[in-house]
Amino acid sequence: MTKKNPAPPDAADRRAAPPVICYRSDQLPVYKEESFAAARDNFRKIAEVTVPPRDARTFEVKAGQFFRIVSIEGSQVGDLNLWNSNNLSERFYSGKTRQLQASHLTTGDRLWSSLPTMRAMATITHDTLDWYGWDDDGAGVHDVIGTRCDPYTNRQLLDNDYHYCCHSNLTRALADTRGLSLREAEGHIHDVLNVFMCTGFTLDTHQYFMKASPVRPGDFIEFFAEIDLLGALSACPGGNCGSSHSDDETPCFPLLVEVYQPAEGSMPQWSAPIPSAYPGSHGRSEC
Ligand SMILES: [Zn+2]
Repeated sequence: MTKKNPAPPDAADRRAAPPVICYRSDQLPVYKEESFAAARDNFRKIAEVTVPPRDARTFEVKAGQFFRIVSIEGSQVGDLNLWNSNNLSERFYSGKTRQLQASHLTTGDRLWSSLPTMRAMATITHDTLDWYGWDDDGAGVHDVIGTRCDPYTNRQLLDNDYHYCCHSNLTRALADTRGLSLREAEGHIHDVLNVFMCTGFTLDTHQYFMKASPVRPGDFIEFFAEIDLLGALSACPGGNCGSSHSDDETPCFPLLVEVYQPAEGSMPQWSAPIPSAYPGSHGRSEC
């Protein structure tokens, strides 16, 4: 975009204001790796769900259990939605998670739920891609800056209809598992955690970009369920998202979700987070 306004004389001073972290991470509950260690050492797999390419599946995880999203067969990204399995109106809040944690998530980060409950839904307890960090393009893995691919954007930009975008895949999966119509289910689909996806903003124009995911078969990201969860995972039609998305051109692979049960009493310190204590009065005497 062409700039129409000249910089004021004190432009350099204004730009030199120091950045201030909006939400200090030291005010969040401390992530204690050791508190999960005993549970992770001896947990056992109790369920698994294979997510077919260009499709989605749901899975249930009880509070106190773990789940993993595992790369199998080939490099593939996934779009993850999470709900409180007992109340779908409490769901993953990508934007608040971005503010409280970072643009890309890894071990120790929490996935926060929507207002007014706003609590940790899940904690990331292992990430085999944590070595990636930030590359020379400013990209990282597992972002909460983008959202799922969807047929409405496709119609806007390409004037065609593609039915196996992550948004549609997640919609069908939720409709099937909860006996909802597609319209009912679609209203519950929300901004995602882009699992294994490698993304950033370009350094010159700050546009959202993707590049081929570094994930390889055997890699996984692991979560601890802080509350009862219903999850939905789409194996994105973009495959490793190294070239395109929202079409049938790119090779796609399945993803595996595994649910793990820790041994009884292996997490004596843990208790499920309660909903936010804010009363919802918003400055008035009645809610
Ligand atoms: Zn997608």
